[in-house]
Amino acid sequence: MAVSQTVWEVLERRNMELGPPEATGMLTHWRYAKAEDGVVWLVLDRAEESTNTLSEAVIAELDRVLSEVQGLSARALVIRSAKKGGFVAGADIRDFRGVHDAGEVEKRMRRAHEVVDRLAGLPMPTIAVIHGHCLGGGLELALACKHRIAVDGASFGFPEVLLGLHPGLGGTFRLTSLIDPVEAMTMMLTGRTVHTKKAKALGLVDTVVEERHVENAVKAAVSGELKSAAGGLRANLLGLGPARRMAAKRMRAETEKKAPRAHYPAPYRLIDLWEEHGGNERNMQRAEIRSFSQLLVGETARNLMRVFFLREGLKRRGRGESGVKHVHVIGAGTMGGDIAAWCAARGKRVTLTDLEPKAIAAAIGRASSFYDKKLHSSLDRRDALDRLIPDFDGAGVSKADLVIEAVAEKEAVKRKVFEAVAPRMKKDAILATNTSSIPLESLREGLAFPERFVGLHFFNPVTRMELVEIVGHDEAGEKTLQRANAFCGDISRLPAPVKSAPGFLVNRALTPYLVEAFVMFDEGVPKEVIDAAARDFGMPMGPIELADRVGLDICLEVARMLQERLDEPMPDVPEWLVQKVENGETGRKAGKGLYTYDEKGRPKSDEVRVAKKAETPKADAVLADRLVLPMLNTLVRCLREGVVPDEDTADGAMIFGTGFAPFRGGPLHYAHSRGADEIVTKLQQLEEKHGPRFAPDAGWERLKGQEAPS
Ligand code: NAD
Repeated sequence: MAVSQTVWEVLERRNMELGPPEATGMLTHWRYAKAEDGVVWLVLDRAEESTNTLSEAVIAELDRVLSEVQGLSARALVIRSAKKGGFVAGADIRDFRGVHDAGEVEKRMRRAHEVVDRLAGLPMPTIAVIHGHCLGGGLELALACKHRIAVDGASFGFPEVLLGLHPGLGGTFRLTSLIDPVEAMTMMLTGRTVHTKKAKALGLVDTVVEERHVENAVKAAVSGELKSAAGGLRANLLGLGPARRMAAKRMRAETEKKAPRAHYPAPYRLIDLWEEHGGNERNMQRAEIRSFSQLLVGETARNLMRVFFLREGLKRRGRGESGVKHVHVIGAGTMGGDIAAWCAARGKRVTLTDLEPKAIAAAIGRASSFYDKKLHSSLDRRDALDRLIPDFDGAGVSKADLVIEAVAEKEAVKRKVFEAVAPRMKKDAILATNTSSIPLESLREGLAFPERFVGLHFFNPVTRMELVEIVGHDEAGEKTLQRANAFCGDISRLPAPVKSAPGFLVNRALTPYLVEAFVMFDEGVPKEVIDAAARDFGMPMGPIELADRVGLDICLEVARMLQERLDEPMPDVPEWLVQKVENGETGRKAGKGLYTYDEKGRPKSDEVRVAKKAETPKADAVLADRLVLPMLNTLVRCLREGVVPDEDTADGAMIFGTGFAPFRGGPLHYAHSRGADEIVTKLQQLEEKHGPRFAPDAGWERLKGQEAPS
């Protein structure tokens, strides 16, 4: 039963007429009513939104509601959400779009704090009943209540750090005083979500109940039988300055490994805040507001918020009906196996086939360990495995709504597969290829239904990379493209439309970056220094390490293909790369590429770690330009050639397909922030020094003088 329905039913049973908003004095987002037992139920049901978020309007209205509730001499106040998806998914960051003045933000935040403080100061028992997501501002609201009752399956977290922020509505001091401060800080520093069991163990919630037991739990809270967990010994100990200083030092060291201070200031600001003011709520509140406001108008947060909106934009493309219930995947290798596992985890029925039964078995084994790690309930794990069906004779093809081909990257092999499966497919089913490079115009030759043929280009690893390039071609049907987009929405992936040009968008732009790293290595620049330069720029890993991960064989194949098919200057692939691939040293999967790997796939020596500490600041910026500017130049060319429809799609695709330094807001956004003129000048200097591959594309003219999009 939908939770939202349950809320209304409970209220109806208690003869509580909430009625339309007018009945409660023109409230738009909140409704409340007092039950016979004197308990006021306050329900958040944000107007015109499918999810509850805390906007300034919602908070302002809460202020009014709280005054009215106080006038009702209520015995207790229960807050819950009427939305099916959860309690509150966080603050509505749209409110902060385009705000550049920290003083202005501070003023607005102080007003919001007053409302939440008012809730926290109510003299009666206040109880948040939480189902589904309870994140960011939602959790701050819940923390301001005296009790938290979680409905089984709820999840809690402070994801602000992912937006370059830390909690700003009281979370920093309320969470650190409620639960073990080290656990609280870890939650805020990592942005990780905790589920009900852990939330209960931490003392974040007082109890976890099934939906049908909510009323009894509320009664227990009202009567004082429900005890809240206390912070415990460690909380007391960390109230002392020296212990806090030591803990803060450790936190800084841990954070430095993942998020360098120069690029991601928020976690460090949060640690400073707690180190200085931990245990003193009033001071911490003041400092929280100030620090949050400064971060919000800073470049990192503004760019990360842009990334948030880019994701929302791509998500919107995935709305609508796909009509896909059953997916048939052909090829159970690295990609096919993981695509099948992912689709089954997201609720699709999947049949998985391969020429090699061993490949199918290995893929199912991988899927099972993935489910063990990532699916939280045993029921979900069992259901996902039930939906993933090994299909040794390929019978699934005739029942599938979508057939995804992920066999070897050879045109002849793929065509043979299409010849065999196309006549057996349902008459409205879609045929998709996961090819990374073969033009769809040549693959569709001879197909009886080219209008139902499309490219669904997933990225490796499928479970982590959110992007899927939706590759069209000259005869692709509109409906097929729409369904392909919607299918991505169904499985929580982000679709980006691209033209069927060599390498599509992401691989085409990534290749000049990787090949330039090979050329530098060839010139004698140590690989560790090259990787450190890219990481200093903000990439999650350097190009040499990335090439090893992708596979040197694949890099070589893609580079050659682009060289053959594109009429643009590119560096020659170094001979040693060809040799390495011939010797089977194809990267991480082979245990050896440019780095050497242990059995868990980690670089064996200290090479990478040493490189992380390499002190080459001056050289880094020069090297980084040499790596990154060819990528930007290619993206500008792709825009000009219509490979990608607009800058936002290009930026989103590079971030969600390759992990391009998110705090820079995307490669083209970065180009705008630096200025197209400056980049063109740099490219010209590089062209003079290293050759025509750096020649600025004509497309830069259009970008000149344009502002960076927010
Ligand atoms: P892979 O070699 O790991 O797997 C290919 C699988 O296909 C093998 O298990 C093989 O036995 C099977 N196969 C070959 N011919 C078959 C046939 N006729 N019928 C059924 N099964 C057959 O390859 P991969 O890396 O998973 O790549 C698959 C496709 O995905 C390629 O087109 C590749 O370009 C594309 N792709 C790969 C990556 C990547 O990073 N590996 C990323 C995006 C796209």
